[in-house]
Amino acid sequence: MAKRLLVTGGAGFIGSNFCHYVYDKYPDWQIDVLDILTYAGNTANLPEEATRHSGRIRLWIGDVTNANLVDNLVSKADTVVHFAAETHVTRSIFDNLNFFETDVIGTHIVANAILKAQDRIERFIHVSTSEVYGTARAETMDEDHPLMPMSPYASAKCGADRLVYSYWETYRIPAIIVRPFNNYGPRQHLEKVVPRFISSALLDEPFTVHGVGQAERDFIHVDDTCRALDLLLAAPRTKVIGEVFNIASGEARSVLSIAEQVAELSERPRDSIVFIGERPGQVVRHIGDYGRIERLLGWRPEIRWKDGLKATYRWYRDNRDHWRPQLWMRQIPVRTQSGVVELH
Ligand code: NAD
Repeated sequence: MAKRLLVTGGAGFIGSNFCHYVYDKYPDWQIDVLDILTYAGNTANLPEEATRHSGRIRLWIGDVTNANLVDNLVSKADTVVHFAAETHVTRSIFDNLNFFETDVIGTHIVANAILKAQDRIERFIHVSTSEVYGTARAETMDEDHPLMPMSPYASAKCGADRLVYSYWETYRIPAIIVRPFNNYGPRQHLEKVVPRFISSALLDEPFTVHGVGQAERDFIHVDDTCRALDLLLAAPRTKVIGEVFNIASGEARSVLSIAEQVAELSERPRDSIVFIGERPGQVVRHIGDYGRIERLLGWRPEIRWKDGLKATYRWYRDNRDHWRPQLWMRQIPVRTQSGVVELH
């Protein structure tokens, strides 16, 4: 059935990949994108039609904390997918007020708008994050893992996650919470680890690794995440509303191993990897259990890491004009646990 979709934060990395996904797959959907275009948002991430305002996708530049604006856009939609957030862990250590404003208050504004339009909104996907879990207490983390956020970013997202949950419990808004693990793929900002290593490779620069690079993460290709969101939009409401779903690969990958693989792909020597101080608030181990979404909707990751990494490398190699303006933002000054200020 045709949908009228509102996507917040749709000019960022995952949001724009999701917009392309539904724009290509569903020619009868109307897509409105609300994005304030911070340093992380880019109109070039979206289908070209978004800035012409004449077709099926339209970009509205505005702030998710503006209640009138959000109420207005939500009143035209039947489905809302909420991505808008400040998202970079290291930046949240450097300067974090806007993380709480956008991620917590912005989510409060969106949840209130949904509440006001409750009779018309069919479903509301809130995009949370695996960072809410902190370091794993078990081999893999399912949705019942304790929430122990370890950085200002993670704590802001955790507040937003629980706020949405409380609105489901209290008001029965049609909310679904997803907790994706580390996404990678095209159009990701260079501040994040995979594009940072790839851009270093393409510019013949050293790869900088935090600590000894043993922090392990679960990396999932953004197209797999988009497919999971699509399934959640199509699933019977009774199966998914009020639920929390991990979106993960179920595999652990150390940051050092990623640097080594990008070095290999770009035919750079192993000694191009240099080590800097550990980032404070670093999660040590993070592997997702995606059993719940698999059991309910048959979703499994389909893109193998090696294939996804190669395709991502090729995208950055072939789209240098897209990411060159972000180069200066790859590093942020951070006081490490030993008290030294370093560029991370
Ligand atoms: P991103 O930083 O690439 O994009 C965020 C977008 O939100 C940008 O386009 C930005 O302009 C917009 N935005 C920021 N403040 C806004 C405001 N006040 N009003 C309107 N728009 C605003 O982020 P991403 O990596 O695409 O992440 C999207 C969502 O997914 C976030 O909620 C993030 O927490 C979550 N998430 C990301 C990952 C990941 O690995 N990238 C993993 C798990 C969860």
